[in-house]
Amino acid sequence: MKRILLIEDEKGIANIERDYLELEGFEVQIENNGKSGLQRAEAENFDLIVLDLMLPDIDGYEICRRLRKTKDIPILMVTARIEKIDKLRGLGLGADDYITKPFDPAELVARIKMHLSRYERIKGSTADNGVDIVYRDLRIQPLSRRVFFKGEEVALTAKEFDLLYFLASNPNRVFSKDKIFSEVWGMQPYGDSGTVVVHLTHVREKVPMDYIETVRGIGYRFTMLNE
Ligand code: CA
Repeated sequence: MKRILLIEDEKGIANIERDYLELEGFEVQIENNGKSGLQRAEAENFDLIVLDLMLPDIDGYEICRRLRKTKDIPILMVTARIEKIDKLRGLGLGADDYITKPFDPAELVARIKMHLSRYERIKGSTADNGVDIVYRDLRIQPLSRRVFFKGEEVALTAKEFDLLYFLASNPNRVFSKDKIFSEVWGMQPYGDSGTVVVHLTHVREKVPMDYIETVRGIGYRFTMLNE
């Protein structure tokens, strides 16, 4: 049974979400504040987290940032205001999706199912052909999700890893930012794919290589030459 953690301070909303999700066969746990939510999310194994942005103690931004150091499970961020979404996406915090209140609980259930199956697909495909990608100074180990550059391990966030792995798994092909966004984040891009740029900047800072090329006006390409 899939386990979902709801971090939500409005008990009425949390209970409605739980009722819908339990009807769909999920096991649901609720934490009503940020501190206990973060502790529980770090200590236990959940398959997905629904995270309210506005919490009385630690806010959703901070929880997401901290969780991404150790967890790569899907995180759905819930926010009360629609204009927050663009900002959230641009911040590159590593949430997988955003939903605004008030929302139809059926919509939440649909998105949760989509992200769970996408996550399983990614894990499954990684396990199937979990061959290391080695190119010049770079080594990517998909099974352990570790990256080495010149023999030194590089600490990437979950999405930074996914982005690098996606490009390196498809060498010499140019992808638009929108295409990268939909492949790596599993969401429809709404015209702005600033998130891709932010994450790519971080990857390039952490892994000082020139294999990922910017193809002006089109997108990005991981160039792998036959040597
Ligand atoms: Ca709240």
